Amino acid sequence: MSVQLPDDPAREAVLAGRPTLWLNPGLQANGIADPALPVRPAQVRDAQANWQQLAPVLQHCFPELAESAGAIQSRLIEAHSLRHALGYEGTEYGRVFVKADGDLPVAGSIKARGGVYEVFMHAKGMAEQRGLLTPGGDITVLAGDQARALFARHTIAVGSTGNLGLSVGIAARALGFRAVVHMSADAKPWKVERLARLGVEVVRHPADYTTAVEQARLAAEADPSMYFVDDERSELLFFGYSAAAGELATQLERAGITVDEGHPLFIYLPCGIGGAPGGVAYGLKAVFGDAAHAFFVEPVQSPCALVHMMSGSKEPVSVYDVGLSNRTEADGMAVARMSAFVAEVMRPLLSGVFTVADDDLLRWLWMAGKTQSIRLEPSAAAGFAGPRFIVDSPRGQACLKAHGLADKMAQATHVVWTTGGAFVPEAQYQQFLKRGGALIESA
Ligand SMILES: *Cc1c(COP(=O)(O)O)cnc(C)c1O
Repeated sequence: MSVQLPDDPAREAVLAGRPTLWLNPGLQANGIADPALPVRPAQVRDAQANWQQLAPVLQHCFPELAESAGAIQSRLIEAHSLRHALGYEGTEYGRVFVKADGDLPVAGSIKARGGVYEVFMHAKGMAEQRGLLTPGGDITVLAGDQARALFARHTIAVGSTGNLGLSVGIAARALGFRAVVHMSADAKPWKVERLARLGVEVVRHPADYTTAVEQARLAAEADPSMYFVDDERSELLFFGYSAAAGELATQLERAGITVDEGHPLFIYLPCGIGGAPGGVAYGLKAVFGDAAHAFFVEPVQSPCALVHMMSGSKEPVSVYDVGLSNRTEADGMAVARMSAFVAEVMRPLLSGVFTVADDDLLRWLWMAGKTQSIRLEPSAAAGFAGPRFIVDSPRGQACLKAHGLADKMAQATHVVWTTGGAFVPEAQYQQFLKRGGALIESA
């Protein structure tokens, strides 16, 4: 299939694989209240309550959660020295923060918010159905012998470029489920090895992510003892991620930061299939309304959300359809076709999407590591391009003007969501640093 993208100021750069900013013409004032959306803000609150309910069993299964009483949370770090390295020292950049999901406990990436949630919610539902758990009863029975024997007769399957597989595999094995992870060709060997050590069955596909997911879905449909975590369609994943919004709101409040019309919040979220950034963005719009401006960021060769949303098509449009390769070092974002469910939800909510080059990911990875010891994998560094696109680029400035924000930027807060990194093996991380350092020197 070959698709013609509509006339748009960003089109030429997108097709040429050059970094650019696309502004979403579908963005609506108070879009969160759009009655046509298939989801509701109340579901974000439900997810927060569910996480709280799961906390005791999460703490039981993952001792590293003792300090947080079972909550899976990351730090909000002000980018004091990092903002200088990035060139964001001017007052026009307001305050710049990093939401360090790369350090998230249990799974070492933003996927801890989605995959762990879906697996534990599935386990809870299964235990309730079998009468092992009464609604509102002691949730730690999920980690008891009877539940474990039940889960051992069931399999949880997922398709992944790596991190979702890690998160789902870790959660499933912690409860005693069998687990099968279908990996795309982009999957890093260390992620495959780590899963194998956990007793997860890894099926490697010599194909891209979308194909791996399709294969996994087919295998699961043929086997009634198998539950499939569907990264393209799952509302559980989506709302597991969305609960991060409440966490960020609390952290901003503690940091003395106001978010309102006069104090805009800009959030930059690395995007693969769209579930993680979509869930977080939806949650943030539910919490902050139009004071939150959510942007996705994608590699120049894998801008699947950008091309699909720009196309305006109801049918899925992939990056291949417009002649891009889907080749990137950023395995967490190596996705050619975005989730149709997330695209529908984001249509009235997303401010825009920008793209980044792989070399810049490695440069920013180096800067974050060297200035503030924030350990990232390449995908996780993508959001650092955000403030420059918004504050400095002609299209960003036009967007600020159109929304009456041009004179409010000194009061703005930028949150760069860094999505993975803690589990990257040291030798691999040192290689990333070396490449990033060499790129900075050669510039
Ligand atoms: C999964 C992932 C993303 C993107 O999330 P999607 O749900 O695929 O859009 C970004 N960064 C990292 C490190 C990831 O693991």
